[in-house]
Amino acid sequence: MNQSASQRLQSVRGMNDILPPEAERWARLEAVAIACLEGYGYKPVRLPIVEPTPLFTRAIGEVTDIVEKEMYSFVDSLNGEELTLRPEGTAGCARAVIQHGLANQAAQRLYYLGPMFRHERPQKGRYRQFYQIGAEVFGLSGPDVDAELILLTRRLWRNLGLADMRLQLNSLGQPEERARHRADLIAYLEGFAAGLDEDARRRLHSNPLRILDSKNPQIQEICAGAPCLLDYLGAESLDHFVGLQRILWDAGIEFDVNPRLVRGLDYYNHGVFEWVTDSLGAQGTVCAGGRYDGLVAQLGGKPTPACGFALGVERLMALCAAHGGGMDAPSPPDVYLAHQGGAAGRLAVYAAETLRDAGVKVLLHCGGGSFKAQMKKADGAGAAFAVIIGDDEAADDTVQLKALRDAASGQRRVRVDALPGFIREYFFNNDTAKKENGHGGI
Ligand code: ATP
Ligand code: MG
Repeated sequence: MNQSASQRLQSVRGMNDILPPEAERWARLEAVAIACLEGYGYKPVRLPIVEPTPLFTRAIGEVTDIVEKEMYSFVDSLNGEELTLRPEGTAGCARAVIQHGLANQAAQRLYYLGPMFRHERPQKGRYRQFYQIGAEVFGLSGPDVDAELILLTRRLWRNLGLADMRLQLNSLGQPEERARHRADLIAYLEGFAAGLDEDARRRLHSNPLRILDSKNPQIQEICAGAPCLLDYLGAESLDHFVGLQRILWDAGIEFDVNPRLVRGLDYYNHGVFEWVTDSLGAQGTVCAGGRYDGLVAQLGGKPTPACGFALGVERLMALCAAHGGGMDAPSPPDVYLAHQGGAAGRLAVYAAETLRDAGVKVLLHCGGGSFKAQMKKADGAGAAFAVIIGDDEAADDTVQLKALRDAASGQRRVRVDALPGFIREYFFNNDTAKKENGHGGI
């Protein structure tokens, strides 16, 4: 065997396989999120994973962590086009809205879910391929719709059984207000030039707002006395921000105003928010959102107000594993179908399909083997019932129905066409079984 053939193939660092049963929990979480989004009238979009690189340099900005050092960019060897694996979903969504003229007629409430790619140092809660669920609204200037995004995410945490999420809020005002603040901020930070780290020095003139967001404690200390953007907001921006807060108060949502919550780019404005938790260590931000009224125009579209959020699925899954209710419920088959012999095999396929027609989850044994071995598998799968078909049963279209987790129900021989009725009755009359198998009757 040559060297490369004997080498074990591994997934790329920071890119994870999500396997059963973990992937089942993911699917459940996604279903809860989709139900929540659709409950607010949001429609799904499916967008490419690869986009032209200039989309991200224009939409995210040259002087950002993402564009400076996190993008998986490459040149298409066939036509020389510069391409990038999407690091986030907003840019592609705005591109699609412009390309297809979606916002020309009516406001659009959109959502997506899927993998994003960033070349970061992998650690708990930080991966190179990770998943986001995102929502974007185009054509509404808020603050009612900004509040809607927050209400929607709060409902999602509730539906997932998550209690300890804290909401942080800030306003970035309008570009002119930020320009005045920016000049004062640079002047302030220049006074501390010696204390700035390399990142901060590099950003001092290109993206000073992002310095406020630094995770370096020494920089945080310097920033504690920096001019506060909220003090630069004019009447219109204050109205927007107060309007948002008022809706949140009315809805009983607690929040903290955090002046350090920033986005470094000009097209962000008005409200920004983050949902954070103390349960995930350093990677405590689960969901980040805000308004970006300038983006569509920045990408060449007609000026269109817009806002949205993105949440990190891995971080949310980690939280659910620690605190969530319901996500861990197993989803065993209702029936394990064991069979032996040619005629029995044919009847088994018929029985399985008949049961599935009636909404019963069936795991049909494949690959032969003794009944003893098959019954062991039925147990291992956690099925509520085994349906057993041998030569005798196949000869007169019957099956043996055996309750596996309820000794009192015993075993009986029933006609194959009566099988769905027996199982349905069992689940309707048995609360424990209903709960364990995740459906209220079948
Ligand atoms: P951070 O400050 O943690 O790097 P960010 O500002 O880069 O976050 P956003 O671009 O706002 O993150 O993405 C929204 C959400 O996506 C984050 O709040 C987080 O939950 C998730 N996320 C971002 N980057 C990663 C990653 N590399 N791995 C896992 N989840 C991530
Ligand atoms: Mg980041």
